[in-house]
Amino acid sequence: MHIPPPTPRQTYWNRMILNAFWLVLLVHLLTQIIICCSMQGDYPWLSGTSYLTGNVLIPVIMILGIILTLETIYKWRPLLSEICNVAASHLIAILMILNLNDIFYVKPLIMLIPLLVSMLYLRSIYLKATSILCVTYMILLLLDTSVYGNSLHIQNMIIAFILTGTALAGFGIIARGHDLMQSLESSLKSEQDLRIQNIIMDRLSKVDPLTELYNHKTFHEYLGWLIEHQQSNPFPMQLAVLDIDNFKKVNDQYGHWVGDIVLRQVAGIVLKHIGADDFAARYGGEEFVVILTAKPLEDSRRIMTQILHGIAELPVAEMEGNSVTVSIGMHDYAGTDSKSSTFQQADDALYEAKKTGKNKIVVA
Ligand code: GH3
Ligand code: MG
Ligand code: MG
Repeated sequence: MHIPPPTPRQTYWNRMILNAFWLVLLVHLLTQIIICCSMQGDYPWLSGTSYLTGNVLIPVIMILGIILTLETIYKWRPLLSEICNVAASHLIAILMILNLNDIFYVKPLIMLIPLLVSMLYLRSIYLKATSILCVTYMILLLLDTSVYGNSLHIQNMIIAFILTGTALAGFGIIARGHDLMQSLESSLKSEQDLRIQNIIMDRLSKVDPLTELYNHKTFHEYLGWLIEHQQSNPFPMQLAVLDIDNFKKVNDQYGHWVGDIVLRQVAGIVLKHIGADDFAARYGGEEFVVILTAKPLEDSRRIMTQILHGIAELPVAEMEGNSVTVSIGMHDYAGTDSKSSTFQQADDALYEAKKTGKNKIVVA
């Protein structure tokens, strides 16, 4: 079974909890030191060497070992980090409770540490396990009548009450967290749907539905943008205008639906020959435009010649295997041309090609 790696958020929270463990260790050590220093008069056994070794040094070293193990797991086995942190929170709490003297009546409250860690992971299974452990511990405490007086029993009952309340609040927080995650997921999904819809709408507004080339509007926007960029960063650029020869006859002889097939085939040939730096659009009717960039006129002329021959040599099945031809007018952009003069010169060249026999390229 493939287990996905932890998400960046999970890794972040594993780190946060590890940092919290370091803090807990520091607070525990400071508390023990303060106890040793301040209890010398009233409880001399709390500052003796055996207490220092057995109840302070050894447990602190053990907790340190647990945290260092967790750090290693966090680094090398990140998938296990979460469950190990939860288990370790219990171990740390138990070690701290066992090594604090019974005169510190509130020490069962240390069980809040695993309760809080389980809550932070927003998993009710962890919280259930921790709750069972807390309940067992509190039952053992309440049953232990040997050491405790009546008032202590009441204090322990209050602590049991606090732990139960915290666990119940934890289940509520986890349910609320899941609810929030679900609403976040559904709003993310609708945002994603909207973005996809926007992309589709954007494409529809830019593309000619019959040939799937860019449309007239996009051509003008792109040509304007390129000419603007020419001012600051000049680069070679040619504009070619293509017009299918005698297209009216195709429609008249074979029908408009065959005319549409021809338009699609011509667009296919154009796309097949232009490069990644070039741009093709259907200008309107049976006219196409190609903007060729980043290459000298001769290279662009070769590409347009390939298109000219490609179209003339492509039989159209619906036209009894006959083919159509195109005439092409080209203009090599000179740094000072405006958008309209660029188009005008290519169009004039096309007119010249039509006038002088069609099925040819004229460069202006
Ligand atoms: P020339 O060689 O001088 O360009 O002659 P032509 O017949 O190609 O040019 P003309 O402008 O006389 O005719 C263009 C025809 O293109 C007329 C029109 O019905 C047809 N046409 C324009 N758009 C479409 C289209 O989307 N589909 C089809 N099937 N025909 C179209
Ligand atoms: Mg025309
Ligand atoms: Mg024509």
